[in-house]
Amino acid sequence: MPDEQDTAETRLARLVLGLRSQGVTDPKVLSAIEKTPRDLFVPELFQERSWEDSALPIACGQTISQPFIVGLMTQALNLDARSRVLEIGTGSGYQTAVLSRLARFVYTVERYRTLMAEAESRLKQLDLTNVFMRFGDGGDGWPEQAPFDRILVTAAAPGEPKALLSQLKPNGVLVAPVGKGPVQQLQRYAADGKGGFKVETLCEVRFVPLLDGVAREL
Ligand code: SAH
Repeated sequence: MPDEQDTAETRLARLVLGLRSQGVTDPKVLSAIEKTPRDLFVPELFQERSWEDSALPIACGQTISQPFIVGLMTQALNLDARSRVLEIGTGSGYQTAVLSRLARFVYTVERYRTLMAEAESRLKQLDLTNVFMRFGDGGDGWPEQAPFDRILVTAAAPGEPKALLSQLKPNGVLVAPVGKGPVQQLQRYAADGKGGFKVETLCEVRFVPLLDGVAREL
């Protein structure tokens, strides 16, 4: 349990050390996580748990991802400062913020208007201006902005995300949880430049499902 006296900085430093010991070793990724105040993305009710390495509930029955998984997925994307990244499932905007510190541009799609609006205002507060947001069904990707260097899906795709893979550049990388049940496989698809992909399973994960269409409620 965290000590009551611990400051946010101490808790964040401990979280980052924990991520490193679990295999998130890329210093750029760790530094992007270190610079991103997760408490800004966590609802009032769960503020105390902002620095725990766990997923937490957000509005609309969704979740903010576990920091370790954010680190692992970001590391697996192998971003550089020129990358144009598509993210499906903005949610709280936490993963978006981490990506935006490492990439040239981030394009992110969310099917709940409320979540999108809240994420937009958080990113603005952090002065992260290289993010473009769209309300819509991310299963279709963002054809007008394709192709992308990298694609990250932060909701579980029932099977191989074909429409999204078709929006990758010839040497692109897509990372997505894939599976129909409560536990999915985190898959990394690396395009081979000849229309095929090298597929690698990184670990088991638990994501909310990628749903069809936009949400009718807020
Ligand atoms: N990366 C987010 C995690 C969000 S949870 C964070 O760190 O906060 C997954 C998100 O995917 C939810 O907000 C959910 O509404 C969204 N989502 C699910 N299906 C979608 C779809 N088809 N298109 C766009 N967003 C979708």
